[in-house]
This record gives sequence, C-alpha cells and structure tokens, in this order.
Amino acid sequence: MTLDKETVALHCLPANGTDAHNPPIWLTTAYDFTTAEQASDRCNGVSPGNVYSRYTNPSVSDFENKLAVLEQAEAAIGVASGMAAYLALNLAFLHQGDEVVIAGGVFGSTAHLYTHYFAQFGVSATLVTANDIAAWEQAVTAKTRMMIVETPTNPAMVVVDIAALALIAKTNQALLVVDNTVLTPIFQQPLIHGADLVLHSAGKYIDGQGRCIGGAIAGKIEYIEPLRNVLRSAGMSLSPFNAWVFANGLDTLALRMRQHQSNAETLALWLFSHPLIEQVHYTSMQTRPDKQLIQRQQTGHGGLLSLVLKDNTVSPMVFINRLSIISRCNNIGDTRSLVLHPWSTTHCKYTSADKIKFGITENLVRISVGLENVNDIISDIEQALYGK
Ligand SMILES: *Cc1c(COP(=O)(O)O)cnc(C)c1O
Repeated sequence: MTLDKETVALHCLPANGTDAHNPPIWLTTAYDFTTAEQASDRCNGVSPGNVYSRYTNPSVSDFENKLAVLEQAEAAIGVASGMAAYLALNLAFLHQGDEVVIAGGVFGSTAHLYTHYFAQFGVSATLVTANDIAAWEQAVTAKTRMMIVETPTNPAMVVVDIAALALIAKTNQALLVVDNTVLTPIFQQPLIHGADLVLHSAGKYIDGQGRCIGGAIAGKIEYIEPLRNVLRSAGMSLSPFNAWVFANGLDTLALRMRQHQSNAETLALWLFSHPLIEQVHYTSMQTRPDKQLIQRQQTGHGGLLSLVLKDNTVSPMVFINRLSIISRCNNIGDTRSLVLHPWSTTHCKYTSADKIKFGITENLVRISVGLENVNDIISDIEQALYGK
C-alpha cells in the first residue's frame, strides 16, 4: 500500500515505551548511557543515540521527521527560530570572502542579518529583484556560495522561479535556499523544483495558533549533518515543548491551509473589485502575468495577501486603526486574521528606494487571513475603508 505523504506524516511516530497514543513532551536535558564506552561512542558519533538536548531530543526529532516527510526531504533539523535557521546556515556554509545573493523584498530581518551582521565577518550580500532571472545571473559570481529566496515574497507576493534559480545555483556551485514559510509544504515543495535547502519560521502556519517561536531547515543529509554540528557548538536549539507544539501543528496543517486559502481567495476577489483598492497581491489572481509559473510551482495559494489602497482615499494607518476583528499584530499564520503595515514595521530597515523597488509601497497593507467566517473579515475591512 502506497500512502500519501500527509498520511505518512501523521503516522511517523517513534515507539515511546508507553501506550500513550500521542507522544509525550520529552523534557530532558540529557540521556543515560549504559556504559562509559557507549558515552564515548555517542559523543564521537561512532554509534547513534541521544547525548544532550542541545544536539538532539526525541520531541524535536518527531517534529523534524514529520517535516522531512512533508517536504519530501532526506532529513530536517529544528532550531530556535526562523532567524536562527538563517544563522545556522551561515555558520555551516559561509566563510570570509564568500558572497550571498538575496531576493529583494525578503523578510526584513533576513536582509539585515546579511547586509549588517554577516558583513562584519567578510561575507557580502547583494539584493536583486526577486523575479528578474537575468539580475540573478548577473549578481552571482565565482564567490557566490548561497542564494536566498522567499517565494512568494512576504508581503509583495512576488513569485520566483525556483527551477530557474536552481540551475544558476548548480552552475555556480552555490546553495539555493528557499524560505517556504508562507506556502508551507502543503502548497509548495521547493526541493522538488531543485532547491538545496528549504527553511521555515515554524511559529507561523506550522504552529498555526501563534504560540511558539521556532524554525527548521530540510534537505539532503549531507547538508543537515553540518547544521547539526553547528547546533552542537553554537546552541540555537529548539525547545522540546515548542517542537511538540509544532509536531502537533503539522498534523492539522493541510486542513488549516486549505481553509486559510479558501478565505483568502474569497477576500482577494472581493478586494479586487472594490473601488478604494488599487491592487491586490495574491497568487490566485487571474490577472497575474506569471500565472503559468505559479501553476507549475505551487499547488495552492495560502492565506497571506496584500492590498494597496488608492491614493487620497484612506491612509493605511487610519484603515488599520479602524479594524476591529482583524488584529494589529506582527505575525502571520495565526487562526485569527492579522494586519500590518510592512513599510513602517517588518521592512522598516530597508531604504525607501529599496522598498519601492521591491514592491513594498507605502499604501500596501498585509493581511494574514485567519479562520474566521470570511464574511466577518470582509465586513470588518468594509467598515474600516469608509469609517463608521
Ligand atoms: C517570520 C519570518 C521569518 C523569521 O522567523 P522567526 O521565527 O520570527 O525568527 C523568516 N522568514 C519569513 C518568511 C517569516 O515570515
């Protein structure tokens, strides 16, 4: 019997030594060794097994195994946050003098980590227009070791051709890293399209209820192993409690993503025909010129969209302040709908010129569409556009 990956993920639980149907949270710092020799073998990687929860923990392993199944990866590693995932990547794979090419418009902290902090260690970063393949070709040099992309970008919803970038990465012996936080493996599996590594901020859709901070990276074992060695030395490890929440979150991810998407699609169509809305950024829009790429690369559109308010109608700040059901919140992927003004918050570290270049305009408002009845979400937006 060949099972679907969603079924495999639901059932891939290790024996836990009890009859508990759901795995416990393994709150343990360390593990008992049977003998001194076993301690030595495990510490030296001669025999497998847990040593210390900075390296591995059964609850973290449950999460990693399920995510690997869903991403169709050989392996995955859980880390303390999405940003810790980027940090671990850099420590594992970059050296002084290396160059990184980044899709412009990626999450603000991601860009800042490279252009500010890693610049201190002699790693230079170039930002390119995310969907301009010629610009990527031009920016990649013999020193480029890593290419970093989000697709669709959050919040401009620019879609990047993963297969085209994978080709450039291979030709130049660089690693292609795709941040899959927005679509999740339910709607996009970057490794199938040629990405080397896929990265997640797990506190978004994987958690799904806005409770825990965490991150993960999935890919070939040859890449996950050096990342685990980074955790062993640098220690940005995932808490077992958070991992347990994420593992449970993965069990309902498909179900939730389909409902987020259904609500987002309804809202996007309503916004599209609204007289005060200039533009809607969402990947299901039939007017998009990149429709074919989207169809090839994505199996769905997710729950994140952005609207652009028409000039001289309502300002983004006034619109956001008038919302009552939709929460003003610096997060995405929660059960409840969330709103944010990326220009002044998540992307405030970009220069104004870069923000405009990468599609994050001043009138753009991001909505993470939640699981409320979609009619209530629409009513809230309608009253906020006009005022009571
Ligand atoms: C939130 C987010 C991150 C950062 O993840 P944290 O878990 O908050 O550190 C990275 N990439 C994307 C696309 C995000 O939305």
